[in-house]
Amino acid sequence: MDLSEEQIRRYARHIVLPEIGGEGQARLLAARVLVVGAGGLGSPLLLYLAAAGVGTLGVVDFDRVDASNLQRQVLFDTAATGTAKVEAAARRLGALNPTVRIVEHPVRLGPENARALVEAYDLVADGSDTIETRLAVHDACLAAGRPLVSAAVQGTDGQLTTFKAHLGPPHPCLRCLFPEPPPRGALPSCAQAGVLGPAAGVMGCLQAVEVIKELLGPPAPSLSGTLLLYDAMAARLDRLAVRRDPACAGGCRRAAAATARPIA
Ligand SMILES: [Zn+2]
Repeated sequence: MDLSEEQIRRYARHIVLPEIGGEGQARLLAARVLVVGAGGLGSPLLLYLAAAGVGTLGVVDFDRVDASNLQRQVLFDTAATGTAKVEAAARRLGALNPTVRIVEHPVRLGPENARALVEAYDLVADGSDTIETRLAVHDACLAAGRPLVSAAVQGTDGQLTTFKAHLGPPHPCLRCLFPEPPPRGALPSCAQAGVLGPAAGVMGCLQAVEVIKELLGPPAPSLSGTLLLYDAMAARLDRLAVRRDPACAGGCRRAAAATARPIA
């Protein structure tokens, strides 16, 4: 894919990077990424992916913009209050980069529709706020052979990792990491626990970096097998190795490299 004059001007600061170059930018332009949740994580994530020229961005969110979102969900402004998040997101992202195709999915993602949603994309980024949605996204990505870049934030702490267990060992799956997910309602919601706005911004930006690295592919290193922990109050980033569990009941044992497919 040859870049146009306009694309070369727009993405010049990427193209000049040895880690991206013209070839890497062409990969980003051809890529299709599904973002689950247009919230505190999805806001910076979507803004940076649209700015980077990721060709197709799907946005899954059934919610409407609420005044209490505006403290951290920088994708939305006060005038968007009451508007469907996917609609407000499409408007803002379209203004930022009109060449990106935005696909609105104003639905609640669950086990019944997750597979069909993720299959239409090369890669999925999850910034949703419930364990049920996270499990549904993860299981659909594992079954469909799609890489998943997963971020979470609560209070003043954040977590980030990438799942590619469909490629086989040594990549772990979500249940290798958390063998028994907490039961429904066991974790406090964002409304109950609160969230430091810019801490969500940091995690959404780190997630955007990992999405771009996955789209570029090797030699860009992958975060699969590593859990990145952010402690905003201590200003610390820590890395934990996550191992694939040979006794995992999460389906990664059945996943074979046969479902692997190149991105874009
Ligand atoms: Zn597993």
